Amino acid sequence: MNTDLQDYSHKRLNILTGEWVLVSPHRAKRPWQGQNEVLSNQVRPTHDPSCYLCAGNTRINGKVNPDYKDVFVFTNDFAALQSNSKSFALDNGLLIAESETGICKVICFSPDHSKSLADMDVDAITKVVKVWQKEYQLLGANQAINNVQIFENKGAVMGCSNPHPHGQIWSQSTLPNEVEKKDNQQNAYYSKNKSSLLGDYLKQEIETKERVVFENDDFVVLIPFWAVWPFEAMIAPKKQYKDITQISEKESRAYAEAISVLTKAYDALFECSFPYSSGIHQAPTNGKDNKHWHWHMSFYPPLLRSATVKKFMVGYEMFGTPQRDITAEQAAQRLRDLV
Ligand SMILES: [Zn+2]
Repeated sequence: MNTDLQDYSHKRLNILTGEWVLVSPHRAKRPWQGQNEVLSNQVRPTHDPSCYLCAGNTRINGKVNPDYKDVFVFTNDFAALQSNSKSFALDNGLLIAESETGICKVICFSPDHSKSLADMDVDAITKVVKVWQKEYQLLGANQAINNVQIFENKGAVMGCSNPHPHGQIWSQSTLPNEVEKKDNQQNAYYSKNKSSLLGDYLKQEIETKERVVFENDDFVVLIPFWAVWPFEAMIAPKKQYKDITQISEKESRAYAEAISVLTKAYDALFECSFPYSSGIHQAPTNGKDNKHWHWHMSFYPPLLRSATVKKFMVGYEMFGTPQRDITAEQAAQRLRDLV
């Protein structure tokens, strides 16, 4: 390992976005006098009569949830994107706008209100993976949909309004910023090297193991070299697949196992139900071959040093570049010890 990376401030390149992160390892020892979050250790019931996602309950728009037994999907009642929205464009000098249409869905991971992915077994998570695959295929087949963004916001600190285990899908006609950056970077690398950017990176990581948290035959869980959030992690298939529909039955289970191991380690880290935003970046559904794409799932957790101390992206990070104190290698070691 290059020990300079653990001792001196430096910046690291995110090869997937082309952006930099500032790393300041010497700062990790500073005392904390900032904000503490309020920790909710309330034990939740398995069914909450006031939860709009629990089985059999009525949602605000009057629709009644079925008595579902594992995973349940529905179109978001308060969708940010709508398929029947008006089509228009504004091109008035430097004032530029375009209409955007799409379809937003909610996926309940389990009927059990008290659980999170970390509490679910690999079989149950595999069922969630299968629904993600089905929805990517279904939404992606729609001519008007060119990108399918699957994500989860977990925990009140991430602005999640309902503790029921659930995620979302926002699918739309154009590529969102983060996907466009990764599309460009992967395309440039593939055109030059005729191999997957992420695949080549993973080979290097699996060899050194410095940032690997867990691996099975088909997937690797690691802290990316360029991670921004203190315990940011990535789950990626070792083989290059452009989207999650391409992985086999066995690989789907291996993926579920990777999610299970990571979320359990997260919960153990600060002995709390660990908050995060996670999302799957995969090839756009724009009808192109997208040979350069290598899908992956990222976890962006805000917690820094305990269940109540979170990292803020403020000041220099708003005006300059994201910055972190604990290095990716230190974060990987701490999570690896909990696997
Ligand atoms: Zn619920």
